[in-house]
Order: sequence, then structure tokens, then C-alpha cells
Amino acid sequence: MYTFTKEQLLQKRPHQRRISRSEKSKGKSTKRIISVIGLLLIILIIGVWLHKANTAYAIVVNGQEIALVESRVEGDNAVKEFLDLKSEEFGREVITPDSIEVEQVQVNGKDKMFGADISEALAEKITVLISGAVIVIDGEEKIIVSSKDAGEKLVKKVEDQFSNNKKDVSIIKSEVKEKVEVREKNVLPKNIVDEGKALQLLTVGTEKTVSHEVASGESLWSIAKDNNLKMEELIAANPSIDPDKLSIGDKINLVKAEPMMHVTCVYEYSEVKETPFETQVIRDDDMLRGKEKVKQEGKKGTKEFKYRAVAVNGSEVDKQFLAGTVITKPVPKIVERGSKTLVASRGSGGSGELAWPVSGQITSRFGYRGREYHTGLDIDGSTGDPIRAAEGGKVIFSGWSGGYGRMIKIDHGSGLQTWYAHLSSSKVSTGDKVTRGEVIGAVGSTGRSTGSHLHLEVRINGSAVNPLRYLN
Ligand SMILES: [Zn+2]
Repeated sequence: MYTFTKEQLLQKRPHQRRISRSEKSKGKSTKRIISVIGLLLIILIIGVWLHKANTAYAIVVNGQEIALVESRVEGDNAVKEFLDLKSEEFGREVITPDSIEVEQVQVNGKDKMFGADISEALAEKITVLISGAVIVIDGEEKIIVSSKDAGEKLVKKVEDQFSNNKKDVSIIKSEVKEKVEVREKNVLPKNIVDEGKALQLLTVGTEKTVSHEVASGESLWSIAKDNNLKMEELIAANPSIDPDKLSIGDKINLVKAEPMMHVTCVYEYSEVKETPFETQVIRDDDMLRGKEKVKQEGKKGTKEFKYRAVAVNGSEVDKQFLAGTVITKPVPKIVERGSKTLVASRGSGGSGELAWPVSGQITSRFGYRGREYHTGLDIDGSTGDPIRAAEGGKVIFSGWSGGYGRMIKIDHGSGLQTWYAHLSSSKVSTGDKVTRGEVIGAVGSTGRSTGSHLHLEVRINGSAVNPLRYLN
């Protein structure tokens, strides 16, 4: 048997009441609310999960997404790491002018890519600058260098190189034509020019020149014309070429390199040069012509020549003679020279031999001829053959003279005379001046003569000498 307690009954009743229609519906809606909440929770969880699954962070450079990362921290770190690495690479802090942000983005699960390519993408998209400098010439940025200090040293080097490139000169003034400054600037590392190249650009201009090989028939002028260059430009580009001595195969530079800097230097310098000595001749009446005696040897002197010159980038473009100062005087050479200058005998080796008056066999020599003393030389000739003066001189006699027949005497000075005898005719008169080789008369056989010939005498200070020693 089973019995209910009062409490049991009381409790049962509301329970039973719940089962009544109204109670019943009330229970159903509670369940629904719970279900909805549950469902919503599930949706929310799924939603959050889905949202999370499709959320990423993008590294955005100048508005362009370049890489995806899982979190903002990861993105920030990637950028920082990249810049740190670059700083390490260049040995100084790098700067980037780009705007770099890490942004949250929604992505499709399958598009989501993270990973190793980030640093590559950053290297590709982020501009990395380092602090450097630029050499500014006449307001134009010309050469990028690694630092202001390096740039200033370069400019100084160029100035020094061309204002002090000669030994023993005194610099009057030196100036750079262009306005040259070095400014600090953040620069692309790859644009930095090394020192050698920078020096070349500043002092020569162009790094490479086009070479032309001279072909047959070409002149500097035709090469200039063919290449649309001015002659001056071509000559300037080829300072070592002599336009007049161009040879086939010579290499000609076709591009005139224009330096970025022009250093003009005005300087003075001195050169010591030798100066020649003079030769003084003293006449010696007792010495035969052609004979010389050196009384004093000559010695060159020295003189200092002072110049003022202008050079542009080391090449002298102007030179002016300022003054000369004698350091040592030259010593003159003093020569005693025989003043019997019209004649030199064969024996003395002189150069002043007498010319043969006629050409012919010698028929009788000077000297003893049997008992007779022959005072001249007989030279064969036909009547009428021209007789020429053996040397220039003055006719001191032209006329008839006993055994000599028709005769001419010429005085050559310094005690020398030549006599011509047995002439058929005379073309000169006493007092005439004659030149060497001039026709003075004709061969004949006048006077004491056995046939037509010329009797020639050479007299020195009145004495007959052997003509053969004086004829050439
Ligand atoms: Zn004779």
C-alpha cells in the first residue's frame, strides 16, 4: 500500500498543475529561449571562430599590402628585423621614406599565406636610405658620396691636386671655376660613387671615351667633320696628338670629356738654361788663310728664365716670360785666324785654293828648268781660250811687259798676287775689280813664247811661289 504525505500531496499538486495546459506552454517557451541562446552562442562561437580564421595582418607599404602575418606583433617585428639587418649591412642606421603600417585584414582561408617570403617582399618594396652626401656643382646634384666628410675630402683633393702639381713653383692663386658644395642627404646605398670614380668624374668628366682608329686618307679635320665635332673639341680631347703628324692606326678620342670641376692655377716658376757663347775672331796677318788657333775655349753660360703660367686641371694653357737673370756669363771663344785669307795651300789643308785660270796640261812646272829658273807654271791652251781670274781681286796691271808679252797682274790682298802672261788679248784694265772665275783675257803666245799657253805666276809678298801649291 502506498500513501501520500500531506507535503507530498502539496508538492504534487503544483507539479500536476504545470502539466495543465498553461503550465505546459510555459515550459515549452523557456526551453525555446534556452535553445535560441544556445544556438546563438554556437553561432557566435562559430562566427568568432570563422572571424578569427579569416583575420590576418598585412604589412602595408605606401598603401600596398606586401605581406601577410599572423599578428600585429609579428608584422612589426618583421619590419624591425628587416631594417635592423639593413643597418647592419651598411654599418649605419638606415632610413626609409616609405610609410609602413601593419593593418588587420580579412582574408579567405585559402588565400592566407604567411611565411618565408616576407623578408624578400620587404626588401623588394621598402626603400632603404642611409645618411650620405651629395656633391653639388653650380646648384646641381652631381655625385653621391658616402658622407659629407668624404665629399669634402674629395673636393679638397681635386683642388690640391691641381694647385700643387708642379715642383718648385710658387702659386700665385688658385681657384675653382664652379661653385662646389657638399650637402648631407639620405641616399640610396647603390648610388654611392667610389672615390676613384668620383675623382675621375670631377677631373676628367666622362668615364669612357670612344676611340677611333685613323684610317687611310683621314685627317683630323675629316674625322671631326664625320663625327660632328668641332676641330677644337677634337684637339682638346686628344692633347697628345699632333694634327700634322697623324698616322694610320693612331687612336683618336672622339668624346671630349668635360670635367665637372675646373681648377685654375696661376703660378710662377724658373728654369735655368744654358746660354751659348760667342766666337770672337782675331785677324793674324802673319798666318795664312784657313789656319786657326784657338786662343781661348768658349764656355756656355747659365741664365734663369722666369715664367708665369696658367694651368687648368694641371694642363698648362698659358705661359708668359717674365724675366731673365744671368747666373753665369758665357765665356767667348777667341780664335786667331790667318788673315792671308785669300789663299790656303794644299799643305795647310785650307779651303781657299786658287781656281785654275784655264784647263789644260801642265807643260812646264815651277822651278829650275835647266839653267833657267821658271818662275811660273805653263798650262797648255789654244789661242783665244778664255782665261779666268784665279781669285777675286784688283787688276794692278794690264798691258805689255817684255818677255811676258801681254800680261795681267791681279792683287788679291794680303800680299798675294797672280800674274797671267803671253795673252792674245786682255779684257780688263788696270784698276778693274774682278771676281773669281771672271774671264779676264785669252790665251796667246805673245812675248818670249814658243807656243800658245798660259804662263801663270803666284806671288806672295813679291816672291814667286809654286802655283801648284795654291791651285785647287
Ligand atoms: Zn812660263
